[in-house]
Amino acid sequence: MKRDCRATRMNTSHYPIAIVGAGPTGLTLANLLGIYGVPCVVIERNAATVHEPRAVSIDDESLRTMQAADLAAEVMAETVTGYGSHYYSARGRCFAKVQPTEQPYGFPRRNAFRQPILERQLHAALARFPHVTALFEHELISFTQGGERVTLQLADGKEITCDYLIACDGASSTVRRQLGIGMSGSTFRQRWLILDLENSSVSSPHTKVFSNPQRPCIALPGPNLTRRYEFMLHDHERDEDLLAPAMVQHLLDTHEAAPESRLVRKVVYTFHARLADRWSEGRIFLAGDAAHLTPPFAGQGMNSGLRDALNIAWKLAMVTRGTLGPGLLASYEPERRDHVWSMIEFALNIGRVLAPPNALAAKAIECGFLALSAFPKARDYIMQMKFKPPPRFAEGFIVPDGESARDTLVGRLFPQPRVRGDEGRDVLLDDLLGPGFAVVVNSPRADAVLPLLQGEPWRSLDARVVALPPSAAADPHLAHYPDHVFLLRPDRYAAACFKTDELQKGAEMVRTLVASTRTRADHSAAALAVLPIAALTRGMTSSAISCIERLASVGSTQSMPA
Ligand SMILES: Cc1cc2nc3c(=O)[nH]c(=O)nc-3n(C[C@H](O)[C@H](O)[C@H](O)COP(=O)(O)OP(=O)(O)OC[C@H]3O[C@@H](n4cnc5c(N)ncnc54)[C@H](O)[C@@H]3O)c2cc1C
Repeated sequence: MKRDCRATRMNTSHYPIAIVGAGPTGLTLANLLGIYGVPCVVIERNAATVHEPRAVSIDDESLRTMQAADLAAEVMAETVTGYGSHYYSARGRCFAKVQPTEQPYGFPRRNAFRQPILERQLHAALARFPHVTALFEHELISFTQGGERVTLQLADGKEITCDYLIACDGASSTVRRQLGIGMSGSTFRQRWLILDLENSSVSSPHTKVFSNPQRPCIALPGPNLTRRYEFMLHDHERDEDLLAPAMVQHLLDTHEAAPESRLVRKVVYTFHARLADRWSEGRIFLAGDAAHLTPPFAGQGMNSGLRDALNIAWKLAMVTRGTLGPGLLASYEPERRDHVWSMIEFALNIGRVLAPPNALAAKAIECGFLALSAFPKARDYIMQMKFKPPPRFAEGFIVPDGESARDTLVGRLFPQPRVRGDEGRDVLLDDLLGPGFAVVVNSPRADAVLPLLQGEPWRSLDARVVALPPSAAADPHLAHYPDHVFLLRPDRYAAACFKTDELQKGAEMVRTLVASTRTRADHSAAALAVLPIAALTRGMTSSAISCIERLASVGSTQSMPA
């Protein structure tokens, strides 16, 4: 890709992409754009990345995103992997354990990390890319949007123009406010006291959840002897009541804090559960906390922001490169919105378990979990965290294949098994696939199929064609597709799949999907819904057709999920 950061006139520079906000969302997006070779600028008002520890839990999907940014090893070095959550009643009985051991996406599912360290790593990693510019101590004041570009005014008088502006500017997003986009959602609002400790040794590496209605509390061990405590405030309590030194000491003493611990921060946060009413306007897109607010009980706020970054990064790359049309960007919100909301609900449900309203509810929860644990399948469901909403969507840049929501791999993050690499070493699948599109053949007769996948549309997508080794087919989702070809997007979600004896039909479906991104040059959410249905569905099953018709019926205004 050619560089395109040019001075347009005195004190004005042009970039294809401008990102406002160097939090985890903006920095991850900038790194992914760096990998894809897209010139961009990151504008951050602070002088440096954050010092305060906020997020402490990073999931397997985010670690896979770090792998896409070629930073997995570095991030893993500062992460405690594979820790669980143990739930205790007010009387100290452990009634539930969530301790996943499976790694469907190639990484442990629950991991402890420190947000300031991750942000520093992401910021430093931008130096790898001559086409990525980071402007710290630069504040966005206002912007205007025309048909061709967005013009940004910075506090120091600088003017920047860009083709697309991505607002990763956090919960109080300047961009969202100036666009007049509201936040709505649940009435949930809770205050929690956050205490961060250093030099705090623990007897178990797992998170302890004290589901005590009198004082709900979570205690999370982190890397390098750090420990986070979160205590709920009741409505009648004032912030200063809990922040008082004697109260803080009492809370730590009664919740197993090591006596030699050093308190490094105490602060009261108010948690919300909200979604922005719209995630885009023309050439401007919201991502991360600017688009959604998640209570931290499931440790998902930042992880959702990283999913946004992964989803939009490759689309921006394909559109600026001209491989796909600008209509592709209309799939961003429909693909992300419902999943974010299910993560918010997931967090609220965990909140209900960890903060029961009274002793009776607490007892019912405790007895319910203990009863469930008598059933191996239920125990496995809880232990392996199978209640976490899976990474998938039902509409967007995909061709649904008519399989049930449970079985389909289309619109779902593709499993990441370990496979034998070129040099005979075992590697994670994505390392074989590279950063772009991939065509993956899951078939015992892959050798005969691979040569047939060298032409169009695979060539224009610059897709790497790979055969899955037989060992990978053991994955339960892949086992459902024994003789199939998958088109994987650069974010490793499956866009389409078809049988190996229907290669022509599969190629036609994908050609039509690609063409649909060029049908509209505007960025309304309806753009992808205006698919040439007849062409797309030719030769497909009736259930697949009905899926596509439902996709086409989606309007440009998305309603809040129930
Ligand atoms: C106590 C607590 C615990 C949490 N625990 C977890 C957890 O365990 N796991 C998890 O996934 N999430 C967790 N979260 C949530 C997580 O911290 C946030 O979701 C995450 O920081 C959001 O990242 P972001 O990049 O979208 O926004 P932010 O981190 O808010 O970054 C926005 C950036 O934009 C900059 N900015 C704003 N306006 C402008 C402007 N006009 N010009 C230039 N720059 C601007 C800001 O200075 C800031 O650097 C927790 C949050 C809290 C408060």
